[in-house]
Amino acid sequence: MSESVIQLFLVPTPIGNLKDITLRALEVLQSVDVILAEDTRTTGMLLKHLEISNTLQSYHIFNEHKAVEKLVERMKKGEVFALVSDAGTPGISDPGFLLVREVLAAGLEVQCLPGPTAFVPALVNSGLPNDRFVFEGFLPHKKGRKTRIDSLLEETRTMVFYESPHRLIKTLEQLSEAFGAERQACVSRELTKLHEENVRGSLDELITYYEENPLKGEIVLTVEGKTEKKETREEKQERKRASWKD
Ligand code: SAM
Repeated sequence: MSESVIQLFLVPTPIGNLKDITLRALEVLQSVDVILAEDTRTTGMLLKHLEISNTLQSYHIFNEHKAVEKLVERMKKGEVFALVSDAGTPGISDPGFLLVREVLAAGLEVQCLPGPTAFVPALVNSGLPNDRFVFEGFLPHKKGRKTRIDSLLEETRTMVFYESPHRLIKTLEQLSEAFGAERQACVSRELTKLHEENVRGSLDELITYYEENPLKGEIVLTVEGKTEKKETREEKQERKRASWKD
């Protein structure tokens, strides 16, 4: 099988700690023809820090539908692009999916470099089972929010949510109501930054904690999945007695 030519690279960028940039990310950002950036000012500052100079073009949720067709045409003619978001991996709760889909549909090749993303360290730091998990991204703010939470009532895998700090307590309260106050969870704040903090406890313990310690910074919320209720000794004996009677 011959090596295919990559027309679009998705390049993860640091979520806080500027040392979290890979050697390959540096190489790609330097070598592509154009870097598509969610915010050219944010990426401009990053490139300056990395001592990389390259052409930047704006690509964000407000222009992506319009921009995609032209970008694909340019890729067909041989231009090579990198896509970056403000932080983390493009396409993960950030623009990217639409472009990837259309580039692939045009028979071109894409490659996402491995690198920073907030949900992986949050999941692992939580100490909750991570052999299977679901990434839920942001819950809808209003319409569809309850339906989404209700759709997770029977979810047994660990769930990972992105959330803004000012909505955290409301979300914890809604999840506590839906899943039960005892459900274990973890709030990961300011991952990779100086004041990184992972607070673990039941949903109700976390509500109390954040009512007393108002939250600042970016957060990921990880929530235990539904577990089979463990049988108490009395319940087990009762079940045995009942089966003897049969
Ligand atoms: N593309 C990014 C990624 O790969 O993780 C996510 C972008 S999304 C617009 C931003 C959300 O990611 C924040 O609201 C927060 O939930 C999470 N996030 C990003 N950086 C974070 C950090 N340093 N600590 C905790 N959460 C973070």
